[in-house]
Amino acid sequence: MLQTDKLYIGGRWVTPQGEGTIDVLGAASEEVIARIPQGNEADADAAVRAARAAFEPWAATPPSERGAALERIRDGLAARADEIARAISAEVGMPLKLSTRIQAGLPITHFGIYGQMAREFVFEQRVGNSLVIREAAGVAACITPWNYPLNQVATKLAPALAAGCTVVLKPSEIAPLSAFILAEVIDEIGLPPGVFNLVTGYGPVVGEALVRHPEVDTISFTGSTRAGKQIAALAGQAVKRVALELGGKSAAIVLDDADFARAIRGVVTACYLNSGQTCSAHTRLLVPESRYAEAARLAVEAAQSFTVGDPFAEGSKLGPLASAAQRDRVRDYIVRGVAEGAELLCGGPAMPAGLSRGYYVQPTVLGRVPPQSCVAQEEIFGPVLAILTYPDGDEEAAVAIANDSIYGLSGAVWSTDEGRAMRLARRLRTGQVDINGGSFNVRAPFGGFRQSGIGREMGEYGLEEFLEYKSVQLRGD
Ligand code: NAD
Repeated sequence: MLQTDKLYIGGRWVTPQGEGTIDVLGAASEEVIARIPQGNEADADAAVRAARAAFEPWAATPPSERGAALERIRDGLAARADEIARAISAEVGMPLKLSTRIQAGLPITHFGIYGQMAREFVFEQRVGNSLVIREAAGVAACITPWNYPLNQVATKLAPALAAGCTVVLKPSEIAPLSAFILAEVIDEIGLPPGVFNLVTGYGPVVGEALVRHPEVDTISFTGSTRAGKQIAALAGQAVKRVALELGGKSAAIVLDDADFARAIRGVVTACYLNSGQTCSAHTRLLVPESRYAEAARLAVEAAQSFTVGDPFAEGSKLGPLASAAQRDRVRDYIVRGVAEGAELLCGGPAMPAGLSRGYYVQPTVLGRVPPQSCVAQEEIFGPVLAILTYPDGDEEAAVAIANDSIYGLSGAVWSTDEGRAMRLARRLRTGQVDINGGSFNVRAPFGGFRQSGIGREMGEYGLEEFLEYKSVQLRGD
């Protein structure tokens, strides 16, 4: 039985100073599946102090030893992968098979990659008469969301530890269970006390206390653009480094020469992954005006193949959303989208047929979505696809609609002519573009333009976020 009533600070499980607990609810059961501490400022302070005390020795530990520690974490997570997948399916609602591959699988991969990278990365380089040293940025506060709870932790913690930073993690209060499993794994492998600390609680309390803390040097945040702006503003007051991975409203442009059946199915799949609770989901489908009816039919067909059901039931392809608040928000968007002129092609705000509890939303497709309406502009974070049209043959218009967003996280182009697709991909103002369903690459940088964030995660680019430059000038005579 996973213990979740203590915080992990300074290499020990400690009783929280904050009073009260937070209930973790099952996405399908709506029942309390765990209780976690509602940490407070004093808990955040204790964790930061522990991280500060551990910083110098950890930063001075040879990178190969840090890499070996990361590989031990990888192995510890792999040994508990089933438990992690089950915990995340219960709290977030992702179907178990997917959860096993993505929610439990990807973090293992990230720890492995950064274990190797710690050994191979060039931390020092001569540039003329200077020795340029890449050194750890210091104490890192990592604040993470609920949609891919352990993955978002791994893409921060693994590079931070590889760089030589020490970490205080504040996971999402909605999906915190895998963070407790991770802390148990880290406790077992015996990282030096204070190198990793876990404090749970609410964002405006524990999260902001970490961001404000004078002993925190760098902040890595993934979550909503709303909270990201608040964090950046607070961090700015002390000129702290901040990396932000925020929301998105990514467009998939389907060109007239694309294989429509494949393309539309691919876009619907990229929209509905994790019930649409994916920051890089392709939520806007852009098709030529004269092909609208065909695209609408294919999108509805694809949407209806997403069997809604319990994440633990065989055959479920679309689980519930993570919380009642999220479900209500998504239903509200569907209603507002229709009120602002969209056609409801399938789905809708009602509970899916045959289900009486769980935070479910029907797979929904909205057609002829006006480009300035809320469902074309705002992140919905649910299984809702918006179809927009552009004038036939007018690639310029397609690019303009795709770029007409405060966000710039991801996007897609579908065409049988790769050169043409590449030309459009270069013009999208986004951090990622997938051509014809090109697959996710864990070594490529992930992050966004504009209000989708600042900085990048994954691969070497993710390591850079946790490193400072130091130039040492040598006389050379
Ligand atoms: P959220 O912003 O509500 O919460 C994220 C984390 O920040 C939680 O741990 C929360 O407790 C904390 N937090 C909230 N307010 C805070 C504050 N004022 N100060 C400090 N910490 C605070 O986001 P969420 O609802 O958990 O996650 C969904 C959002 O995350 C979506 O907008 C999604 O697009 C985004 N997201 C982005 C990426 C990416 O890589 N770009 C990945 C996953 C999720």
